[in-house]
Amino acid sequence: MHPLSDAHHNLVLREYELRSKHRFDKIESVLAQLAQGYGKANFVGWANQILLTELGFELPNKVLFEASIGEFNLGSLYSQCVFEQFLAFSREFFELDPLKGQQKQATTDLFLRMGYHAVGIAPCADGRLAHMVSYILRMPSHMVRRKAHAGALFDVSESVRNWVFTEHLRFREAIPNKASEPTRYLKIAAYHFSKADPLHLGCAAHASEDQQAAKAALERLAEFKQAIENRFGCGATVDTVLLGVNTDDDSLRVHVPNEYGMADLANYVDCHRLYHQTLNLTAEQARSAILDALRNGMNPSGYRDDFLSKQPGIMPVLAWLIEQNMAQIQYVHSYESGCYPDLGHAERFIGIGHGFEEIQLRNLTYTSFLDTLEEGIEDVEVGIKIFKKLNVSRMLPIPIVLRFDYDGRVPGSKARVIKKAQRIEKLLHLRFADLSEAGLLHTLCTLRDYTGFTAAERLDSQTQVYN
Ligand SMILES: [Zn+2]
Repeated sequence: MHPLSDAHHNLVLREYELRSKHRFDKIESVLAQLAQGYGKANFVGWANQILLTELGFELPNKVLFEASIGEFNLGSLYSQCVFEQFLAFSREFFELDPLKGQQKQATTDLFLRMGYHAVGIAPCADGRLAHMVSYILRMPSHMVRRKAHAGALFDVSESVRNWVFTEHLRFREAIPNKASEPTRYLKIAAYHFSKADPLHLGCAAHASEDQQAAKAALERLAEFKQAIENRFGCGATVDTVLLGVNTDDDSLRVHVPNEYGMADLANYVDCHRLYHQTLNLTAEQARSAILDALRNGMNPSGYRDDFLSKQPGIMPVLAWLIEQNMAQIQYVHSYESGCYPDLGHAERFIGIGHGFEEIQLRNLTYTSFLDTLEEGIEDVEVGIKIFKKLNVSRMLPIPIVLRFDYDGRVPGSKARVIKKAQRIEKLLHLRFADLSEAGLLHTLCTLRDYTGFTAAERLDSQTQVYN
């Protein structure tokens, strides 16, 4: 065991991962069982009994009845089951807090001590990064703002709007600290690559070119900082971090800052190597080895005290992120022999819209943040392409969960997101009409009041499976 990992915590995470994925992975075999009983007298009652026993829910009689008219329609039942499991999964996440993501105070305080009052993470939408916050970085999910985009190409204007909101909260309500305190906003972008098959299993949005993926993410970070500088004259109150994730084993490349305070593309700490180098040390020795690796990783011109003094929190925060990652590398070593068996895509469904805090598991979901389908269409197309290989090639439909969060305190907020969700759902079926008409694209609209810990609720008028 690595000295900076906790076997019990890893076990809790592992049990949650297995239990949650099993919910979805069991569906196909249960449906195969239903297909065998097709034609039975009282098929609907019998099928629901099996669904209840095996998957924990029943489907409306009408849905089962319609699926059993003529040829048994496995496809529509498959999506309905995925949707039911998603709703149950969401309930567990928000009501029982299995990953303790709601317990954010200690980490929030730690970040304040390191000089950061807020953290925004922009990973790639790829499902192999869906566990970025709770697993790879071991951060409380409710502390971090995560917005996933294909290729980690996050929307700079949207990020600036969120920054304004964050600063306004500090100014008006001193949450999490007063605006007069000299803390900063930390923006992290995460690209990814595969060491096992670099030419095919890297980022689809960058044609598996990891250099290109890293450069593009870094450019967005620089644009974000520049936007704050140009618009508000305080770009220096934003620190940026560039991380690369090896999706084979969750180890990070932690890019060190250059002499201009930006991540250095060429210089980084390879956490996989560091894991092995520090395996037999004590926790204190390992922590000091992490700091040494960061200093040694820096270009000599970058490692100058005058430059680093302008970003006092950056070395401690990078060291902390590396320490967190050591525990995750241990996780992959303990449970997956150091390398995942599903090196490529194995997502169970697509999620588009806002929110999706409950998605904290690797390869569970291809999640794309979007506000309008026009703006997010490229991300959705990448997802559809992935699912054509994963599902359509096996004559299974593509289940898409739409999700829009609203603010329960704001009059009309819910009504507006209902309209938005319905509009995007309709457009989605129009845009991918070939799949939709063939019964190979099904959608579920969900909403959530993000001001509390209630689960996603289904938007009833739109829950019928389109065929
Ligand atoms: Zn990607």
